[in-house]
Amino acid sequence: MAKLYFHYATMNAGKTTMLLQASYNYRERGMTTMLFVAGHYRKEEVGYISSRIGLEADAEMFRDGDDLYARIAEHHAHTTVHCVFVDEAQFLTEDQVWQLARVADRLGIPVMCYGLRTDFQGNLFSGSQALLALADELREVRTICRCGRKATMVVRLGPDGKVAKKGEQVAIGKDVYVSLCRRHWEEEMGRWRAEDLVGFAGPR
Ligand SMILES: [Zn+2]
Repeated sequence: MAKLYFHYATMNAGKTTMLLQASYNYRERGMTTMLFVAGHYRKEEVGYISSRIGLEADAEMFRDGDDLYARIAEHHAHTTVHCVFVDEAQFLTEDQVWQLARVADRLGIPVMCYGLRTDFQGNLFSGSQALLALADELREVRTICRCGRKATMVVRLGPDGKVAKKGEQVAIGKDVYVSLCRRHWEEEMGRWRAEDLVGFAGPR
């Protein structure tokens, strides 16, 4: 039985490195993988996935309205696909998550999705919400806050180095994302008085 997997984490947890390593393991054994990455914020014609430690691979882009089941089934009809990988899976639509579930259920191909659980305001992304509801296996990719606790939340720092409290779900450009534990996230977001460490806005 092929399964739909959701590997979720906050930013900079190494999700993409894990994805590329897992795909490489298949290919090393002579098997075929299909890689997808969100095309929502990309201008290039050809997609690629790159990790912070320098791994890279070509990937197909998905955008809202694309039928991923149809694309995978078509490819699978002439070249057997052994595993499908989706990076930036938080940007999938609910329909697309269902399409990927059908890839597992009807084509018998495992689908490994990697993405963020929540945005900088602590809200689920559409793709993450559907994946949390539908995936057969949920796997948390762990990373740590500056305090050493598990980081489950993310703050966005604008070009001025200050924490964004509101705004678009995704900002393109010079914004930096930092992963924090829930306690420090609330402090950085100004929802609770900072009790220990100095925030990003303060002196360093
Ligand atoms: Zn912390």
